[in-house]
Amino acid sequence: MRVLVVEDEPRMAALIRQGLVEEAYAVDVVGRGDEVLDWVQSATYDVILLDIMLPGMNGLEVCRQLRDQGYQIPVLMLTARDTLPDKVKGLDSGADDYLIKPFAIEELTARLRALARREGPSKSAELVVADLFLNPATKLARRGERSIELTAKEYALLETLMRRPNQVVSRHQIIDHVWDMEFESGSKLIEVYIHALRKKIDEDYPVKLIHTLRGLGYRIGEDENR
Ligand code: CA
Repeated sequence: MRVLVVEDEPRMAALIRQGLVEEAYAVDVVGRGDEVLDWVQSATYDVILLDIMLPGMNGLEVCRQLRDQGYQIPVLMLTARDTLPDKVKGLDSGADDYLIKPFAIEELTARLRALARREGPSKSAELVVADLFLNPATKLARRGERSIELTAKEYALLETLMRRPNQVVSRHQIIDHVWDMEFESGSKLIEVYIHALRKKIDEDYPVKLIHTLRGLGYRIGEDENR
């Protein structure tokens, strides 16, 4: 999951970024409202965290502009005050949810999981492919009865694949959802993490779930020949 955090207050932005990175999100931070559209055009975000009071353009206006341009990306609005007019204005501008500052990072990540569920094909909290289960709340995977611990990046990569079961997921899509703007395009990082995931998820099982499609990308699913 990749999140664009739009927040002009450096300490607040750093706190949110740190909390989300610890939870295996890829995070980019932008401090101005009038730069959001450029970022959204240059990368694929799963969700936008949008402060209301911003230099350049306020969050309500940013959200309205995104929706006017046809962007359906879920927006979680950050509001400083718990006042009814602010909430109403936020939701009217096209935001999907709002969070009142100050908030606990746990509440933020729970809201983000709820938004991802709303967008995804499955309404259940756990992602399932064959006998492989992934829990976005605990970040634990389970194959059959065996639980599998994952590093943050392994989790993010597996989640990206499992949200698109039986579909080819390109390297470009993986980079977009798992890494932030710091990713170096020539690097072998994806191969390294796929290798690590295979060791944990497929190595001991006759049915392999992670498939490589040369030149196209990767696919997760039971059926080898699809
Ligand atoms: Ca602000």
